[in-house]
Amino acid sequence: MRGGSSWRGARGAPLGLALLLGACAATPPARPAVAPVSPALQATTWTYGSAEAAMLAETSFRALVDKAESRLGALHFGSGFESAIVRDLEGDKVRLRECDLSFHRPAVVFDIDETLAWNMGAQADQARRAAGFDPRRWDQWEREGGELLVAVPGAVAAVEALRRLGITPVFNSNRSAAHAAETARALARLGFGAAVHGETLWLAGDADGSSRKHGRRVAIAERYCVLAQVGDQMGDFVDAIDFAPDGRRHSPAERTRMAAGVFARLWGERWFLIPNPIYGRWNDPPLSLDDVVPESARWTPKEE
Ligand SMILES: [Mg+2]
Repeated sequence: MRGGSSWRGARGAPLGLALLLGACAATPPARPAVAPVSPALQATTWTYGSAEAAMLAETSFRALVDKAESRLGALHFGSGFESAIVRDLEGDKVRLRECDLSFHRPAVVFDIDETLAWNMGAQADQARRAAGFDPRRWDQWEREGGELLVAVPGAVAAVEALRRLGITPVFNSNRSAAHAAETARALARLGFGAAVHGETLWLAGDADGSSRKHGRRVAIAERYCVLAQVGDQMGDFVDAIDFAPDGRRHSPAERTRMAAGVFARLWGERWFLIPNPIYGRWNDPPLSLDDVVPESARWTPKEE
């Protein structure tokens, strides 16, 4: 559009200016400006606009309720029961924290963003600007965007079903603790019921001052018998997929190997994943095709 406007301006220019423009005739016309396109545009439209994404989320939430109900039936007072929270890794063996119904109420732990609630407004704003994540803008969104959050398909029905079974939903999010009231209000408005900061709502820095969720998971496991966890990032379930014991960040291949290896038995049984191709550690730093397509799988058409 901007290229078209400049041509109209040249035709209507005074003679002197027209001569000057004529002297520049050999210069190729400037290309019309192209609006920047967000690398996350397609992932954003798929997540919020496709039946496929909606049904994947529905599938996970339905499986969650089925599995949580059957786990609840297997709980006994006074007996050691494996929760959905990892205690430690011994070689390639995962040990889960145990709980006792005599002391702990049953619960399911949920992440919030892109797990229970879609941040359409913030993600569309970012995609339109073709910009990266802006912490200040996100902080503003947490304060102002609660009324615009949209429940992920299947999420409200699942939380309601769990509450009817006597299972407490506990929310573990990296939203700011300074905005606890706004987040609790947004959850209630969406239909997820009450969330009490420090009891059923845990936010960034709670428990151990960290943005990683392990300390909060431990604090929750000391209060509840956690039947299942639900999230859209590996860090919603365990830190060990993203980070080695010495703090080194795992590569994308290492993350996949761990998720599908030592933790394999938990997916679909104790851990339930909601699709989010828009953002996450899987793409930080952004992956290239060479990172994900091995040499042995690359294809170039043969010459005809
Ligand atoms: Mg999330």
